[in-house]
Amino acid sequence: MEISEIIVVSFCLLIFASLQVLTMLRWRLVDTIFVHLGVCVSLGFFANVCMLLALLGVTRTALNYQLSIQLSLLGMILTFGGLTLTLLKKSRNDLFIYWGVALAILLAWSALAFNFQGWTNVAATFITSNNFGLQSVKQLMSFVAGTGWIMAIASSLVNLSTAFKKRHSMQFLNRLRYWLIVTFLLGAAGVGLVVDIAPGFEWLALPLLTGGMALATYNIINYQTPDLKLLFNWGLHYIGIIFVLSSITLVGLVSATQLYRFISNRTHLLIWMAILAVGMAAAYRPLQRLANVLLMRMIFGRVDRDEKQMIRRYNQDVRNTLDVQRLSDVTMKSIVETLDVERGIVFINERTGRGPISLKPFSTVGLKDLVPRYLTIKNPLVNYLRQEKKILSQYEVDVRPEFRTMEAEEKRWLEALELELYVPVLRGPELLGVLAVGPQKNGTAYSNEEKDLLVMLAEQAAVAMDGALLFQQLSTINEEVGLLNDRMSIVDKSKSEFLSIASHELKTPLTQIHTYSQLLLDLTEDDLKDEEYTKKVFEGIARGSERMRDVIDLMLDVSAADLGSMHLFPGPVAIKEVFDQAMKSYLPVLDQRRLALSENSLADLPSIEADGTRLVQMMENLIGNAVKYTPDGGQITVAGRPTTIGDGEPAVEITIADNGIGIDPKYHETIFEKFFRVEDSKNHSTSKTKFKGAGPGLGLTLVKAIVRNHNGEIWVESIGRDEVNRPGSTFHIVLPLLPNLPERIELPQSKIITQSITYS
Ligand code: ADP
Repeated sequence: MEISEIIVVSFCLLIFASLQVLTMLRWRLVDTIFVHLGVCVSLGFFANVCMLLALLGVTRTALNYQLSIQLSLLGMILTFGGLTLTLLKKSRNDLFIYWGVALAILLAWSALAFNFQGWTNVAATFITSNNFGLQSVKQLMSFVAGTGWIMAIASSLVNLSTAFKKRHSMQFLNRLRYWLIVTFLLGAAGVGLVVDIAPGFEWLALPLLTGGMALATYNIINYQTPDLKLLFNWGLHYIGIIFVLSSITLVGLVSATQLYRFISNRTHLLIWMAILAVGMAAAYRPLQRLANVLLMRMIFGRVDRDEKQMIRRYNQDVRNTLDVQRLSDVTMKSIVETLDVERGIVFINERTGRGPISLKPFSTVGLKDLVPRYLTIKNPLVNYLRQEKKILSQYEVDVRPEFRTMEAEEKRWLEALELELYVPVLRGPELLGVLAVGPQKNGTAYSNEEKDLLVMLAEQAAVAMDGALLFQQLSTINEEVGLLNDRMSIVDKSKSEFLSIASHELKTPLTQIHTYSQLLLDLTEDDLKDEEYTKKVFEGIARGSERMRDVIDLMLDVSAADLGSMHLFPGPVAIKEVFDQAMKSYLPVLDQRRLALSENSLADLPSIEADGTRLVQMMENLIGNAVKYTPDGGQITVAGRPTTIGDGEPAVEITIADNGIGIDPKYHETIFEKFFRVEDSKNHSTSKTKFKGAGPGLGLTLVKAIVRNHNGEIWVESIGRDEVNRPGSTFHIVLPLLPNLPERIELPQSKIITQSITYS
């Protein structure tokens, strides 16, 4: 038992144990890549435990150490091959084929090792009958294990080399470079471990294997690995600096010895030495700085960038910028100037009010044919950036399970952009935008400093964007408030007019009743004998009270609709019957004002489920309006056609068209509001039919309430108001055939009869 061997194995075991813990911590990410990694590390750990037990001479268990070590190592390397394929995102088919071959090798080896079904004997006979250069079953086992090892390493190398040729993100290519090193380390370990398996085992192999697995684990679980090329360059840079500095020191030393040799006078020597020392001290710093700059330029091809300067310049550029587009352009320009990126997008959250997040690409670089797309909170990427508030790499989007729910189309869109990093622009909890950058032109992956720089830029951008977005929001709100104000003033005007209208509406018939009742009181006996005169007095009272009842009914109806308590009594209704019923009351006035009222294909319409009384009320109001706003001699047409509503439900469309004065488009919606009338209140008339005789402004409100209660739609079309050319107005009503009305309320029979008219 050699103490050095125990130390090496224990050390490797310790590392494997830590790797196991690290992979276990990521175990929740049940993804093929982590499953492969977990199996790999566990098998390596198990092989190490067996090695240590064997070295310590613990032989009590039934475990055959040598065989267990070899089997677990073979399993480990084969799993590593599979891990490479998953890392390279090879298809499921490729993985199946690989694992098929791998399992065959494992099975063959196990059959030989554990003599399943006497396979060892079969192999022994096979070896003796054919001379393959193999002398024993043990050698055959080594041969099989070696084949497995070579297959895993070779498949990794071949697939890696093809992957290098494809276009990948710098981050991914960097990951592949790491993987290449891992593959070489494991390949080298294999030479020592498998080809000449224990007891004469190469001691270098185990640390190589452990190092390889450690690097593999680091590479998989670390989402952003430092750039290898950059690390190499920094190494070169430091070697260069050390070389320059030691050369300076050497020159100093050589000069000092030379002085000592040639100057014999002690005082002179001291003076010269002092001059040399001061000269060296003075030259040291500037020379070091010069070397630094020169080496930087030689190795990295650039002078060290001044971050503070860049941020200062950016701040100057965006100060007082309240235009979101300009701000986004300046931000993109700053990114390109400092990081020299090939591609990039500045997304900005076009928040409207407290609406949902919607990221829109505002400025781009290197993406000419970009089909713009909005990213919403539904996209897990947006959600991640908002919640985690961290920089995110495309690699993470590819492997982390939380991004698997991303919509396929969105995923493809993002992949096609070939971006590398997504930096959230945050202001408190709010995601104002995202700075997305593609690879740098120099071909290196982003260093930590560069990422910090991007984060810093995003922080500055957030301040500016917040202001600009607020300003934009304020402008939209301002516009909306303006519109609302206009509407409010219209409604306000109509409300204040209501008082005068309502009092007028009621006062006029009341005066009429009052006057006639006075006449009634003053009737003399002679008057009573004059039948015609008394009839006129009574009719006057009746007309006045009828008009009052109409107005009050209308007000009650509208208020009921307002309170949502308009009760409907549905039944099958024919539109033609509704029209006939409604037009009856207008027959005398049509005649008087020489208005032509006609109907078109109403009889062809299917009957609908509706409250007949309400529909008559609706039609009366619309015909009444057409009569009121069409000058004498005009034409009114009521027509119908079958149509659909909502998701294609069958419906009927009724149009009431006139060739009257028309309605200004700016009032097309407000006319349906309570108490609103285009007419001046001066035109107000008690007559329901007088030309331009404005009513209480409740008719259309009631009509709309009736239509809405039948789950229908109503709107008006008119090119404008013109009393000379009379463009006319057309009211459209769409009512579903089966409006799915609330259950009919069972009222006492008599009430149903008086309230609903049923047409057959
Ligand atoms: P009113 O009782 O004043 O008629 P409505 O609610 O029925 O109230 O109508 C509101 C306003 O819509 C009317 O004041 C009128 O200006 C306008 N209006 C309604 N129908 C027509 C029409 N067919 N042609 C022109 N204007 C109309």
